[in-house]
Amino acid sequence: MLDKAQLISTALSSVDSLNSEDVPEIISSIQEVRVTRILVTDNSGLAVYDSLRVRNERGKMMLLPEVVQALASRDVFHCSYEGGALQSHAAMPVFCGNRMTGAVYLMEYDTEEGAMIQTLQANILYVSLILEAAVILISVVFSATFSGRMRRILQSIRTVREGDYSNKIETRGHDELDQLAGEFNELTDRLQDYEQKRRQFVSDASHELKTPLASIKLLSDSILQNEMDEDTTREFVADIGQEADRLTRLSEKLLELTKIDAGTEENREIVEVAEVAERVAHMLAPIASLREIGIRTDIASDCTVMTIEDDLYQILFNLAENGIKYNNDGGLLEISAKCDEENVTLTVSDTGVGIPADSIDHIFERFYRVDKARSRAAGGAGLGLSIVHDMVERNYGTICVENRPEGGSRFTVTFPYIPVEVEA
Ligand code: ADP
Repeated sequence: MLDKAQLISTALSSVDSLNSEDVPEIISSIQEVRVTRILVTDNSGLAVYDSLRVRNERGKMMLLPEVVQALASRDVFHCSYEGGALQSHAAMPVFCGNRMTGAVYLMEYDTEEGAMIQTLQANILYVSLILEAAVILISVVFSATFSGRMRRILQSIRTVREGDYSNKIETRGHDELDQLAGEFNELTDRLQDYEQKRRQFVSDASHELKTPLASIKLLSDSILQNEMDEDTTREFVADIGQEADRLTRLSEKLLELTKIDAGTEENREIVEVAEVAERVAHMLAPIASLREIGIRTDIASDCTVMTIEDDLYQILFNLAENGIKYNNDGGLLEISAKCDEENVTLTVSDTGVGIPADSIDHIFERFYRVDKARSRAAGGAGLGLSIVHDMVERNYGTICVENRPEGGSRFTVTFPYIPVEVEA
């Protein structure tokens, strides 16, 4: 538009003054300017030419804002979109030499471009409506799915809270909710396992307590109901005493296990294995000698472990006591310890009956006994090895058992080696 206005302005610069005779002639000689309106004013704003047929303003003062600005020596151009049409306005001054002789104003009313803009506007509106609808739909579907899955997780948590640990949440993907469901399933597995062990423990413990109690009741009833000589009565009372001892041992072991389960932290210190092993051998020597079982110790002198001293004593005592209980008369019990840069390895071996292959994996379970009659006769309740196992674990060690090729069994306990720093 400004180009066109410039063209007309240049053409009009050939005359001294713009008047209604010269201007129409000059403009009609310019072919290529096709706009809706061409208006030319003299330097006072009086219209000397107007191309409009209808509402032609020639001869009137035309102080349109664009004309006013052009008469103030400024080029003007602006566009507006109104009523479905694009309207462009351009104006610029006309000079003859250095003197301003008037202004030229062009106006273009373009309905074609207006229609294009209208279609574009309609399309944008249409597309944005579709997008908005899609976003709303996706959010509704997403939030419905999310809250559905959340509801299922909450439902499962409630079910588990009521004690049904078998309830599992189905997982399909790997998003955060699936991870949450996975963690929850693992937790319920552990709870189920724990609950099952707890029930088993309570039932085994009650059974173990019931047996000596029943014997005591039977023996005391017999004493009360039958006329007995003094020797038989003494014998029965001695049996009652033995059953009471068994009950005491059992409750001591149960208390020990509860203490380990509670996980109360006790003081660990650097303990010399040799000293503890010798004490155990010394304590067990009298019962071993009753059955002519020899005890041999082979402990490297510099073996030290970071442990609770009572635990180490209990571990070695229980293993060595079993090595005597389940040994053959005249057999041998060996306690040895050696250490390398990383580990202290303790072994307790015997020449006894050994452990059947199908029992070896269960030997550390609570109340597990291979030969119930033999174990009970020896005063055992199947708790000693599980106490040993839990104590070894809480002192960061490991324990394993194997049958020796030459007969009997060998228990191996390994602890991390803690060297004692000798002060210079
Ligand atoms: P218990 O108090 O009955 O001895 P333990 O937990 O100490 O319980 O041992 C569990 C079972 O493992 C025992 O009943 C016994 O059958 C078997 N057992 C333990 N130590 C030995 C061993 N040195 N030789 C053979 N069997 C053993």
